[in-house]
Formats: sequence, C-alpha cells, structure tokens
Amino acid sequence: MLRAVFTFKHLALFGFSTSVCLACGADSSQGPSGPPPHLTIDVRYLSTFTAQQQSVITAAVDKWTRALSKDFGSFRFDYPANACFTGEPRLNENHHNPLIFISIGEIDGPNGSLALTKLCGISGRDTLPIISYIQLDQADLASMEAQGTFRGVITHEIGHTLGFNPGSYLPRNLTGGGTADPYFSGATARAEFTKHGAWYTGATVPLESRSGIGPNDPHWRYIVFGDELMVGEIAVGTRSPLSTITLGYFKDLGYEVDFSVADSYEVVPLFGGNRVVPHVTLAHDVDTIEPPAVLIPLSSR
Ligand SMILES: [Zn+2]
Repeated sequence: MLRAVFTFKHLALFGFSTSVCLACGADSSQGPSGPPPHLTIDVRYLSTFTAQQQSVITAAVDKWTRALSKDFGSFRFDYPANACFTGEPRLNENHHNPLIFISIGEIDGPNGSLALTKLCGISGRDTLPIISYIQLDQADLASMEAQGTFRGVITHEIGHTLGFNPGSYLPRNLTGGGTADPYFSGATARAEFTKHGAWYTGATVPLESRSGIGPNDPHWRYIVFGDELMVGEIAVGTRSPLSTITLGYFKDLGYEVDFSVADSYEVVPLFGGNRVVPHVTLAHDVDTIEPPAVLIPLSSR
C-alpha cells in the first residue's frame, strides 16, 4: 500500500464554525469582476480549533499569501454536502480565491500520518487547486504543538493545497525520471536549486523516490533536502524553511512570487553529516488516488 486512502468513518466533525480570509481583496459574491490585489486564501474550519491553533494556521496562510500572488478567476460552487469529503458543507456561492477546509479527525492514532490533504477541485485554466481539504490527526495535534512542529506541518499541507501536488504539475509535463529518480523540471525551481545545491549532480529538482510512485509523490527528496518545508518528513527541532526552490516551483506553476519571503536555506545532504534526527512522516499525506474535479472559471464559460 503505497498511497494514502482517506477513511472517513471516524471523522469527527463539529460543524462549520468560522471563516478566515486574509488580505481579502474580492467579495466572493462579486463574480468574475476584477482581480484581487493579492492571493487570498479562504480558510473554513470544520472543527473547533483553539485560538493558539488558529493563530498558527493564520500565520501559515499569511506567509503563503505574502510569497505568492495569483488571480485565479471566479468559480461557481454549487455542490451538495459531502460532495468531496465526509463533513463537507453544502456550497452555493461564487468564489474568487482558493478555499481550504480544515478539520481535526482520527487518522491513524499517534504518530504515523500527521495530516491528510485532499484536492477537491482544480482550475481547468491552470491546474491550480480551488477547493481543498486538510484533515489533522487529533491523536497527534497536541504533540505537534508541544514539539513545535505544528507550524511546519500546517504550512506544508497548505503548500499542497496551493499546487504542490501531482494534480497540478503532472498535466503540465513538469516531471521526469520515472519511479527510480523522479524530478521536477520547472526552470525556476531548477535555477534556484542550482544556486543553493550545486553539489548535487543528479537530475533536478529531485522528488521523493522512496514511495515507489515516482513523480506522483509531491515531496522534495528527503535525503537531499533535509528539513526543507516540502519534504515528506518532519522532526522535532527542524525549521521547515520555505526555500526559494519551493517558491521557484510555484513560479513555474504560474504564480507571481516574492522571493524575499523565503527563509534562508541551503541544500545540504541529510546523511552527509551528523544530521540524522528522529522524525515522523508526512509521506502519503496527499490523496493521489482520486483525481480532483476540474473546475471551469466563470470568465471562461
Ligand atoms: Zn506532504
């Protein structure tokens, strides 16, 4: 079993609670008129989150919205409840930015998977996700907070919902290397990788190869990237830096990017020194079995 399967039978939902919209530049009822000045991300909580948890999520969203800009266009959401995942509310609105549902539920008990992300709909115009769902494992949430890894985990999962996933890059033919040596071939990510990891002589930019699913695994290769934000592992004490390589990835996918938002980061071989640390996994945290629906922007109809 190499890929994650969503199981919803134990999903604990507490009802639609609140919505956070950072730097909102567009009224979701306005339809296709006028692009927003910034990327906006609409976060809707489907569980009860503490104020501290919400502040961490808000900070993660804020970091991504400072780094990335994009006019997604407007979309008509008219879906019954549970259309994409169990507990999804009925949607009946026009929307002009990515929408992310976040809940807390039972995934697999302590350790194991910390979170799961499912892409519900991607844009037919640019393959970028429009509706996504992040489920955090309630058995791991307290330990993530205590260990200081929650910020990295939620920032990582949001990265998947913004386009760091095979549903966004595979249709653009931005990968190669098969299952043995998968890599992302976007020009900007490659250029940034070369600046910070010139020692690496393989095909760039290396995606995770251990899962056996080749470029379907949406993570940078752990043994090459170490603690970078978008590897499939996270450890206590790691910084989970958002690198210019990852921002280059998003530029290759069509975002405007502010590279000054990136954290300092150099590609250092994980096992080249004394950097082996206990870690837990974010592997298989993106549902790659069920392809997301393709949504057509209103302005394209
Ligand atoms: Zn991941």
